[in-house]
Amino acid sequence: MADVAGAGLRIGVVGGSVAGCAMAIAGTRAGAEVTVYERSDGALEDRGFGIVVPPPLHAELVAAGYLDAAMETAPVPSRVWLTRERGRRTTRELARQESAVTPCHWGLLWRTLRANTGGVTYHRGHPVTEVQRHAPGGAVIRTADSEELYDIVVGADGPRSVTRAALAPSVRPVPAGYVVWRGTLPLDALAGHPQELELVRTAWITLGFRGGHGVFYLIPGAAEGSRLLAYAIYGPPPPPSWTAAREEYVRRVAEEHFPAGWAGIVGRGAHTSLACHDVADFHVPRVAEPPFLLAGDAASITRPHTASGATKALQDALCLERALRASSSAAEALCRYADERSDEGARLVALGRRLGRAMVERTPDWAAMGPREVAEWSRATLDGAGSYLYGSVQRE
Ligand SMILES: Cc1cc2nc3c(=O)[nH]c(=O)nc-3n(C[C@H](O)[C@H](O)[C@H](O)COP(=O)(O)OP(=O)(O)OC[C@H]3O[C@@H](n4cnc5c(N)ncnc54)[C@H](O)[C@@H]3O)c2cc1C
Repeated sequence: MADVAGAGLRIGVVGGSVAGCAMAIAGTRAGAEVTVYERSDGALEDRGFGIVVPPPLHAELVAAGYLDAAMETAPVPSRVWLTRERGRRTTRELARQESAVTPCHWGLLWRTLRANTGGVTYHRGHPVTEVQRHAPGGAVIRTADSEELYDIVVGADGPRSVTRAALAPSVRPVPAGYVVWRGTLPLDALAGHPQELELVRTAWITLGFRGGHGVFYLIPGAAEGSRLLAYAIYGPPPPPSWTAAREEYVRRVAEEHFPAGWAGIVGRGAHTSLACHDVADFHVPRVAEPPFLLAGDAASITRPHTASGATKALQDALCLERALRASSSAAEALCRYADERSDEGARLVALGRRLGRAMVERTPDWAAMGPREVAEWSRATLDGAGSYLYGSVQRE
């Protein structure tokens, strides 16, 4: 390992979530000594949302030892597009496409990555207050009670990254002007809805409505073999006057726009998780400049229609490992990483904006569409960009 850049290097990682753990595994696998600083001392594994990744990436991560084959997923091969029948409350199926995805439970994904960071020093409840370039080389990571020097500092500290503040201080999130509700429901929310249950067992669902859309898919639950229904609903934010429970607002959106069956499902079970996020995006033009490197949401955030944030974070980690193994110095490895990863953030931001415009800001007349129209509209929206969510449509 002597001529590999990773061997003997000290890498400090700010943030110990999906990107932080994956980057820590990458560094260790390339021979570096890795320390992670995570601000939260709460249980990250309790974040129960759904995350979808492309099946080939999942397979690659299992083969490389980042993920375990035993981690439960809920893969499906297809995507079904639905809307509400015009003037009625019944469901109309618009199209069915080949679109293989591997849905995961965020908490299980994090726990698996964390379990595979063997050999890494992981400090929980240690917010980093500052990262600072060190004149002879490397950078210092400061917390309230420590100051350590590293050869490489990885910023995996999410959207409000302190590491990004050192590398690209002028980059700021750009709001999209709409919100996403993310929720998970126990499967008994689908009791009494056999058709919807059958559908979501074999496909992931996009439900279009005027001014937004919803996405539904199953993810593994906490108990082995169990499933949760995960959803994301995009649309305008609640009015400032809204003071009732968040569940009530989601219920109202579903009542107003969804076919009765899907509205009943969202309005029913007790949520196991529910959150509302403003949708925003940004990207850092060059994601590494020795001794700093950015990964995951610290480097770029795209509108979630691309389902690519965790995916990108995991690809960032695979790239760091490759770059460290192929280089003879930290600076060379970071340069390789920046060359390979910088464009991906910009590409995904552009794709997310196109999808957001088409699926939220200027929605088509869904009820007038069929398989051919959905395929044509999808290709026009992608405008040549690749997305694993659009599988067969891109090849036609
Ligand atoms: C609605 C929605 C749907 C999504 N769906 C998908 C999907 O289907 N597929 C997909 O691939 N992605 C999806 N994503 C994106 C995905 O969730 C994120 O991109 C991914 O989890 C980012 O991980 P991260 O580790 O970069 O950031 P985060 O998870 O935000 O982690 C950052 C970590 O850094 C810590 N931290 C912050 N500041 C400090 C500090 N100063 N010191 C120490 N620690 C610090 C935080 O506590 C946190 O643990 C979705 C996102 C949204 C909002």
